[in-house]
Amino acid sequence: MPTTTLETLARLMAQTTGCPICHYGRATGHVFLENLLYESVNDFGIRQQLTQRLGFCALHSREMLQLPGARLGAAILEQAMLKEALRRLEDLVPARRSLLGHRRALGSSPPSQQNCLVCEHERQNEIRAIEDLVGHWDDAWAEALENAGGLCYNHLHQAIRLSPNKTIVAQLKTSHQRLWQTTIARLDAFIRKHDYRFRDEPIQAEEAQAIHRAIAILTGEDA
Ligand SMILES: [Zn+2]
Ligand SMILES: [Zn+2]
Repeated sequence: MPTTTLETLARLMAQTTGCPICHYGRATGHVFLENLLYESVNDFGIRQQLTQRLGFCALHSREMLQLPGARLGAAILEQAMLKEALRRLEDLVPARRSLLGHRRALGSSPPSQQNCLVCEHERQNEIRAIEDLVGHWDDAWAEALENAGGLCYNHLHQAIRLSPNKTIVAQLKTSHQRLWQTTIARLDAFIRKHDYRFRDEPIQAEEAQAIHRAIAILTGEDA
């Protein structure tokens, strides 16, 4: 029987630390990347989409190289992308100067890093997983999520926006206030113990880990 999104989320909450939506998104992205790579070499439609986007983002391009037996497919794909980049180079011209200067003509991220197919797939799955989670919310989910360490900032933001009622919003807020205040207190202890007056106090493992938790909360889990 195929596993449902909720079953996967429950497993991720029990087995991993930090935002289960991030973990879920990355896992679905990994499978998608794997399938895409094996199909892309022969599928004209996928090849065309990839060419349009100049391949994957930096993260997923490197992840592709970790897939077993993917080097040949990756080499064929990257060669095609590099040929496309070479073709585009022909048409590149300086931006038109305006009164505001031409820095504005440049986007906020470099052209080859936009619109990664795998990133897009992850974002769509994350939204669906959040909808599923808040749609089936109860005290057991609240407890499991808090024990896992809660959602990252971005996914909490989306969960609150997608919550069907005020009770869920209140529960999500209280739980994350508790979690984040704990991380702040641990960082406080970590910072304080760097002062020479308190240097005899040993730094606890969770205090040393707090910086990683803070970064994961603010930027998402990295794996
Ligand atoms: Zn997240
Ligand atoms: Zn990507």
